[in-house]
Amino acid sequence: MKPAPFDYLRAESREDVLAQLHEHGDQARIIAGGQSLVPMLSMRLAKPALLVDVMHVESLARIEATAAGIRIGAGVRQAALLEWTARDPRLPLLARALPWVGHAQTRNRGTVVGSIAHADPSAEQPLCLLTLGGTLQLRQRRKARSIPAAEFFVGMMATARGDTELIESVTFPAAQPGVGYAFREVGRRHGDFAIVACAAVATEHSVRLGVGGVADVPTVRELPLPGASDFDDALNQYAWDLDARDDLHATARYRRELVRRLGRETIEEALRCRN
Ligand SMILES: Cc1cc2nc3c(=O)[nH]c(=O)nc-3n(C[C@H](O)[C@H](O)[C@H](O)COP(=O)(O)OP(=O)(O)OC[C@H]3O[C@@H](n4cnc5c(N)ncnc54)[C@H](O)[C@@H]3O)c2cc1C
Repeated sequence: MKPAPFDYLRAESREDVLAQLHEHGDQARIIAGGQSLVPMLSMRLAKPALLVDVMHVESLARIEATAAGIRIGAGVRQAALLEWTARDPRLPLLARALPWVGHAQTRNRGTVVGSIAHADPSAEQPLCLLTLGGTLQLRQRRKARSIPAAEFFVGMMATARGDTELIESVTFPAAQPGVGYAFREVGRRHGDFAIVACAAVATEHSVRLGVGGVADVPTVRELPLPGASDFDDALNQYAWDLDARDDLHATARYRRELVRRLGRETIEEALRCRN
């Protein structure tokens, strides 16, 4: 199918983007890498009157270290962040997760922020942001706010973003000494969305497990350490609480079993990889 007609604006500055969003509200849609939006336009699942392209705004294309962590601007492509993680050890979870995001071709165009804005429950980058306890920086013409990832994902591909807000950047907390990070995923083929994806952050005393692909939103839970008498029960309870459903790709029972097995493996790997 062909998209419905729309206007296109190549923004040259952040102020351009904010002015367009202010003027057009929900009739405008930001386009970043287009890897999710273009198929949605083609299927007429989205019919915006105006696309505002943010990929030529230089100030949005930066990766910066701040006191809160590593801040990734709205124009940073997934391939650029993956390349950055090869040089800089401060985002080990992203270094492990990004190779699972689509293919080199889609990562060359798709942005980190675009994936988080799209909020697919099977997507790797929202899961990493949530599991690490990251934040989003949102801006509209006269206001800016920062919100935790835990408050951003509110339902199946639904977020707390307002129609006139640009997600200017997202901040992933940087790796801490003595903490281990691991990511594992099962999909039908490499490059497909996850049937179940697990991200773990582990210290000597605590473990946090994020799960994507099962519930309508990525989820995260603190669990006892493996080896504790209540670990298996807690992980099993988590798998049930995610309320998995049967679909074309997998049964609910298979997904629960993956949460238990892959979840345990991911946690054990995170504990082994403590820096
Ligand atoms: C063949 C293929 C395989 C893929 N496999 C995977 C996979 O395995 N895992 C995975 O996670 N993804 C996968 N994807 C999706 C890919 O990662 C997309 O790049 C990503 O979901 C969207 O990023 P984008 O920059 O292309 O955003 P776009 O498609 O441009 O935008 C997506 C949505 O986010 C909004 N948006 C974008 N930027 C902003 C912003 N700064 N502020 C507010 N709203 C914004 C847009 O308006 C739109 O609604 C795949 C895509 C393809 C085509």
